Amino acid sequence: MDRQVALVTGGSRGIGRAVCYGLARRGAYIYINYSSRSEAAEETLKQCKELGGDGEILQFDVANSAEVDNAMTKIKDEVGHLEILVNNAGITRDGLLIRLKDEDWQSVISTNLSGAFYCARAAAKIMMKARSGCIVNMASVVGQAGNVGQADYVAAKAGLIGLTKALAKELASRNITVNAVAPGFIETDMTAKLSDEIKEEMKKTIPLGRFGQPEDIANAVVFLTSKEASYITGQIIGINGGMYM
Ligand code: NAP
Repeated sequence: MDRQVALVTGGSRGIGRAVCYGLARRGAYIYINYSSRSEAAEETLKQCKELGGDGEILQFDVANSAEVDNAMTKIKDEVGHLEILVNNAGITRDGLLIRLKDEDWQSVISTNLSGAFYCARAAAKIMMKARSGCIVNMASVVGQAGNVGQADYVAAKAGLIGLTKALAKELASRNITVNAVAPGFIETDMTAKLSDEIKEEMKKTIPLGRFGQPEDIANAVVFLTSKEASYITGQIIGINGGMYM
């Protein structure tokens, strides 16, 4: 296959979907991963095709290393190469420290941090052989600044920032770049569930005075996976309306 091949975890909705659209405009073949909502993934694939890309849907749970390895084997067997991995799948289970349950902690760390590790490890095997590749991890402003009521999520995102820096150094000699983007408050299903009161409070902390859109993040991800960004690695790009600098 001549097209660039990309795997976008959690590509079915929100920021991941916008990343798929951005890559589709560049003509990529995109493996659109999701966990449970197949209709959203189907809609994303349909739009990708209309935008000039192509691809297929690849359901798996990023938190399950065996499922990740099987998915990567499928990509290797089907197309034989993988230029781009976007570790975007993520969840929140918010609560104050003393109320957070073991299951909340485990599921947030497994999905947001271990999932990225499993996918990067499996993708690196393909990319190292090709001596090229780009990995972009979806961190968060709260992984840089901290946040009340999100100890699990903040720890996972801060871990992802560390993972990004470690892998950037480890994989550089194989011409693989590893970067992260750290979004601020972006309007997606994830933030839609917050109360209007919390949203208004958050808006006051954003110097630009407005929430971000999935495309604001996708534009940076698409850039980081382009030829023009080939000398950028190990960086954490904040896209947050000035919330944290
Ligand atoms: P979203 O709208 O809730 O979408 C989440 C996506 O992840 C969906 O495609 C979902 O698939 C998938 N997913 C969840 N758990 C998964 C699993 N175990 N395996 C595979 N896929 C899984 O979220 P979003 O707002 O676009 O967020 C995307 C990323 O950006 C996340 O990592 C999030 O932490 C990060 N982020 C978001 C914001 C924000 O303000 N929205 C800010 C900073 C960082 P299903 O539909 O099948 O469940």
